[in-house]
Amino acid sequence: MPDKDDEPPFPDPEEISKRLSDFLKSNFGDQVSFSSMPSGANPFAPAEEKGCEDHDLREKNTDVFDFDLLPREIKDHLDRFVIRQDEAKKALSIAVCDHYNHAKYLRRLAKTAPEEVAKVEFAKQNVIVVGPTGVGKTYLVKHIAELIGVPFVKADATKFSETGYVGADVDDLVRELVRKADGDVELAEYGIIYIDEIDKIATASNTGGRDVSGRGVQTTLLKLMEETEVAVRNPQDMQSQMQAMFDMSRGGKPSRETINTRHILFIVSGAFSGLEKIVERRLRQGSIGFGADTVVSDKTAILQESVTTQDFIEFGFEAEFIGRLPVRVVCDHLEAGDLFDIMKHSEGSLIRQYEREFEAYGIQAQFADSALEKISVEAAEEKTGARGLMTVCERLFREFKFELPGTPVTELIIDGELVGDPKASLAAVLEKAGSVEDSRLMGEVSAFRRKFEEEHGCRLLFESGAINRLGEIAAEQGRSVLQLCEELFRDYKFGLNLIRQNTGQQSFTLSTAAVENPDKYLSGLVVSSYKEDENSSGDSGDV
Ligand code: ADP
Repeated sequence: MPDKDDEPPFPDPEEISKRLSDFLKSNFGDQVSFSSMPSGANPFAPAEEKGCEDHDLREKNTDVFDFDLLPREIKDHLDRFVIRQDEAKKALSIAVCDHYNHAKYLRRLAKTAPEEVAKVEFAKQNVIVVGPTGVGKTYLVKHIAELIGVPFVKADATKFSETGYVGADVDDLVRELVRKADGDVELAEYGIIYIDEIDKIATASNTGGRDVSGRGVQTTLLKLMEETEVAVRNPQDMQSQMQAMFDMSRGGKPSRETINTRHILFIVSGAFSGLEKIVERRLRQGSIGFGADTVVSDKTAILQESVTTQDFIEFGFEAEFIGRLPVRVVCDHLEAGDLFDIMKHSEGSLIRQYEREFEAYGIQAQFADSALEKISVEAAEEKTGARGLMTVCERLFREFKFELPGTPVTELIIDGELVGDPKASLAAVLEKAGSVEDSRLMGEVSAFRRKFEEEHGCRLLFESGAINRLGEIAAEQGRSVLQLCEELFRDYKFGLNLIRQNTGQQSFTLSTAAVENPDKYLSGLVVSSYKEDENSSGDSGDV
């Protein structure tokens, strides 16, 4: 046997990847793919590009097989985040409880009388959610999945019809569930697949020219919703096949080859524009008391009360497909008042996000109700549900987010006046913040702050007095503020890093005292970081 030293050096992973790739290409042409994968990456690498959104299973609150929530408890949880949509919350809570109680029942039965499991009949409570964009359909499902602790995958139905590789893509949804469940196939078998824009795969001609391939997608999805076995590894993806081979050869357990879709809960949704007209027409034709001149003003109400399977079929769904979606839910439109409530009361409110974003620059943003009212009226005009809030806020705060960071401003009151005339308000805020009109001075201080943060990872905030004093000293000494800062705060990188290690604090506000006597000021900060509870007297250097 040759000595180990005589063997050629083992190639690095990139080289192996390249050689394998060449080998596969020469043997199989473009039929199989091989892409390099960072070590430790999940072999079920995902389908983001295939239309799946990422909602990792971070908060696994409950073991799904110990499920013991009541519908009321699920709704209470949803109420914390989702405003309105009471009927949707109720219907979804019930469907989800039935589904996971059944999972628990099957699990118990499998232990006590495994031969009985296959005989248990259960009509799956798949759900169809009707509602316009931005009213919380995805948000509801995401929070349910998080609460229960099951993997959740979202995709758009339109992606399937576009690709042409219909079957392959739909199967990827199931594989994506396995990835979200960290490779736990059994948990993935009880996951939730949420498919939006399902109305786009309707095929009826009477509601406008829809994609004719829609029927094909419906058939493929139907198979998944009923029961089918999907290969855990994409047969086209040589890389994941080889990963499995490597795992086995390293003595790992042979992993499951397929995942059964029988217990995956499907929730589909769409705007279904025109569906209410179909319902209306049917009611007119069928009911004597419902005259042709009756005007139905509330679209949501007519759908909530009267939509039938027949209406969905007329809209363009195959009877078998719609038959597999027995739970029908209609979401309300959101009015300006609802958007106000979302900002004010939802735990996931956009306002909290803005508060955090300003806070990162040391600015305390406070939203007055008068601002929320104006923002919600503007957002409602966008006609994109709660998404309108994001559009309006982004537009409204862009200048504030650009101009205020790095200035002495530490507080921003956002009221109706500010929303009405943001430009004037911004100017007033900047003026009020002190006599820091000299933009060159501000620019130099900002440049120093940026450099310091980049090099040392700590954020410095200067009070307006400190900035003015820096300007005065620099002028007296005839040098730039940037040079002055670099000299004055030369040792700050050591002290502030120490504090960061002690307390996790990342931003530090420097007052005039820091400019007058930087070393003493830094000592004070360091000492008080050691005595978190005491007020720093800032008078010692004995760290
Ligand atoms: P869609 O109905 O199109 O699925 P989403 O659920 O994705 O809309 O909503 C987009 C965002 O708007 C959510 O992430 C959430 O922040 C907010 N949102 C939408 N509807 C509501 C609602 N009813 N209550 C609270 N927030 C909502």
